[in-house]
Amino acid sequence: MRRRMILWMAGACCVVGVSRAAPLNEAESRLIKARLVPAPQTVTLTDGPDIVMDASLEVMFACARDQQVAAEQTAETFKAWFGVSPDLKPAKAAQVPQKPDAYRIIAARGSLTIEAADAGGARNALRTLRQLAEPVRGTREVKAYFLPELVIDDAPAMAFRGMHICWFPENTPVQIERYIRLAAYYKLNAVVLEPWGTFVSEKHPELAWPGSSMTVQEVRRLVKIASGLGVTLIPQFNLFGHAAGSRVGSGKHVVMDLHPELQPLFEPFGWTWCLSNPETASLIEEVVVEMHEAFGRPPYFHAGCDEAEDMGTCAVCRRTDYTAVVQKFLTRIHGALAARGCKMMVWHDMLVSAGDKRWKGYVANGSAQSEALLDALPKDLIICDWQYDAPKKNETWPTLRYFKSKGFPVMACPWENAAGYRSLGALVRQEGLAGMLCTTWHHLYGSGMQQIYFRAAHATWGTEPAGGHENLVFTQHLRQVGWDIPVKVYEDTGTYNTQLPEKTATPR
Ligand SMILES: [Zn+2]
Repeated sequence: MRRRMILWMAGACCVVGVSRAAPLNEAESRLIKARLVPAPQTVTLTDGPDIVMDASLEVMFACARDQQVAAEQTAETFKAWFGVSPDLKPAKAAQVPQKPDAYRIIAARGSLTIEAADAGGARNALRTLRQLAEPVRGTREVKAYFLPELVIDDAPAMAFRGMHICWFPENTPVQIERYIRLAAYYKLNAVVLEPWGTFVSEKHPELAWPGSSMTVQEVRRLVKIASGLGVTLIPQFNLFGHAAGSRVGSGKHVVMDLHPELQPLFEPFGWTWCLSNPETASLIEEVVVEMHEAFGRPPYFHAGCDEAEDMGTCAVCRRTDYTAVVQKFLTRIHGALAARGCKMMVWHDMLVSAGDKRWKGYVANGSAQSEALLDALPKDLIICDWQYDAPKKNETWPTLRYFKSKGFPVMACPWENAAGYRSLGALVRQEGLAGMLCTTWHHLYGSGMQQIYFRAAHATWGTEPAGGHENLVFTQHLRQVGWDIPVKVYEDTGTYNTQLPEKTATPR
């Protein structure tokens, strides 16, 4: 009797799922898990037959919200990535994931089940499938892909998962498209695009280097691509410091180098806009509105506002109540955006005083009047707090907590430090902060590119990389993104434009 009961139970387990099947061996499990970026919340690999994604593949599909859109997009993606058009049959799911962007994959006994909370969850499931799928062996060309037997349950750790990407004069539109597509592939859902003297304003072309490629037409093309990938593309314009539109170390100034007649718009050294000049405020407002329109009126606009080191240095600014000037100006631009249904994001550092002992060891570049300025600003300003160092012992990240205590939405903004990503990610989850805006600056190539993308993906999904073959995993993912464009030239592949320095045609 007992033996019959055990047999019956084993049979029942086979019917309801694969969870009781023997686990896949350690070596294969490690290889498969290493490919998943970000690592999902749970991955259960079992030792069953592979699921071949050919014409006979059966796909069960359930989506808690956006059912029709998600099903259409899933069918299109299957065709594009795996070359098959399976019938999507309704899945009899007991518990479809509910959290936005969450998904579940069950691959067992020749059939595949995808359960998603929404269109974002379905997209994320497909991304995971692409990272898992391997071409069937033994042929010259791909005939079909296959999946290992597994169950994956996954959900993001925060709602806003952003990456801040710079468009330098050296970048091409295809490079920027690769960065955006890769962010989407790693399940981020927002990209802030900051032009470095590259946005070709139709009203103020003098704000871009001659021949810049970030035209309104190009922006619209990228916004459409991003939107199809579930990524909100957010414009940035620095309306306080960084007015040179160039790295400070380069000594370049996108406006003053070629247009000396426009000097009154800037403080005498040129790094910060002259905010007491009404001409400056009008120009900036026009550009902000133009960019917001070009980006398709997104819900956010990043106004920069960091490192205004020569602020208030001209004869008018230095003889006035400068804090009031800055407050009035920021409130004016905030108002122009609010009228368009858009929230303004700013970097945090000018809003905490450099001399305040509370922020010792943290980034703080503001004047003694920072707190008065902060208190006078609209409370829906999103404060992007950039702290690039590793966490200290018993780290509390006091500036982020301070802005939260003042009633502002706060985003944590790490750059490259792995421990910083981990610690700030945990803080966002514990404190219920608005999310993460991961930064990249001028390091988006080579191994730095892999590290930033891996860390951003894992911190925003609250998991740790499985590890193993990391460089190769990354370059395969970058290659897959290239197939989607598709890239056609040497410079648009890999993590560097070229393998040798670009100018080697000199005698030895
Ligand atoms: Zn001034």
